[in-house]
Amino acid sequence: MTKMNFDIISDALRDARTVGVASHIRPDADALGSTIAFALWLRDCGKEVTAYNEEGSTAKFHYLPCHEIVSLPPATPQKFDVFVALDTSVKNRLGTVNKAIAPGTTVLNIDHHISNENYGDVNFIDASAPATGQILLEFFQHVGARVSAEMATNLFAAISTDTGSFQYAGTNERTFAAASHLISCGVDVPGLSRAMYDSQPRRRFELLRHALNTAEFHCDDRIATFSLPMDLVERLKVLPEDNEGIIDHLRSIEGVEAAVFFEELPEGKVRVSARSKFPRIDVCKVCKKFEGGGHPMAAGARVDGTLTQVKNDFLKALSDEIRN
Ligand code: 5GP
Ligand code: MN
Repeated sequence: MTKMNFDIISDALRDARTVGVASHIRPDADALGSTIAFALWLRDCGKEVTAYNEEGSTAKFHYLPCHEIVSLPPATPQKFDVFVALDTSVKNRLGTVNKAIAPGTTVLNIDHHISNENYGDVNFIDASAPATGQILLEFFQHVGARVSAEMATNLFAAISTDTGSFQYAGTNERTFAAASHLISCGVDVPGLSRAMYDSQPRRRFELLRHALNTAEFHCDDRIATFSLPMDLVERLKVLPEDNEGIIDHLRSIEGVEAAVFFEELPEGKVRVSARSKFPRIDVCKVCKKFEGGGHPMAAGARVDGTLTQVKNDFLKALSDEIRN
């Protein structure tokens, strides 16, 4: 990473007094952790900071220090000198946050998705980083910012989740250097890991039980899938945040090369979440055919249609990608 690159971020924020920060709908710890850490840094710089997420900071993420800084977006446009979008590949994935950004606001887009559409007035995209949190830590080190234990914990959570606990493609010496630096800033690794990985609500476990019981195999057992119809969501009282990570159980099976999760949404759409086990299988490419995006080995889309229709169409496209 050259000095010049990070200067893009510093230059965009230098004269800003009021700054908004947000990330994508259905946030994960990279989205919220990056939002919180960046908001804390901006506050240390003396800016007036507002942080939003379409869902606010949901109970699942209350282990993130200073999560209270994230609020629900108001329905009316707000004036900001700069609005920072983090970890968000396309602007519409900011969801209802978009309504809170007054037209004409300068948008600074910082992200690690290769499919990022460069929708900002200023764009800093580093697709070699496995998490937006890693970009932010490297930026903080570049500008010599003090990284508090609260900031470090948010960034560690961001990097830990997006790398599947330091396992996925893109995890390299930079990632471990970032983690090492964050631990020196005061991250309680076992405490944070317990909160992130050993504290799932019982209803999520019931969803996992259902997923394992109803999993299907396609394409000569090279694809594993599971579906979540709306009536089951009601019966198990699961929240949107509960299904994150369940797909990893399907991908972990020997011989399975890709896993897909189909979630029926109320508005006549299906949310598709796809994972690949090998770099040669590009699920982002497949999701793009359905107007989605993401990373080569972890991508998603929201597709019009019924669960059965979308499942058939998507599995056909994915089978083609696997067989070719
Ligand atoms: P997940 O499957 O966990 O929802 O998302 C995996 C990755 O794909 C994330 O990086 C996420 O940002 C991206 N992604 C998920 N759904 C969509 C979508 O509908 N559109 C785009 N552009 N990206 C998505
Ligand atoms: Mn991310």
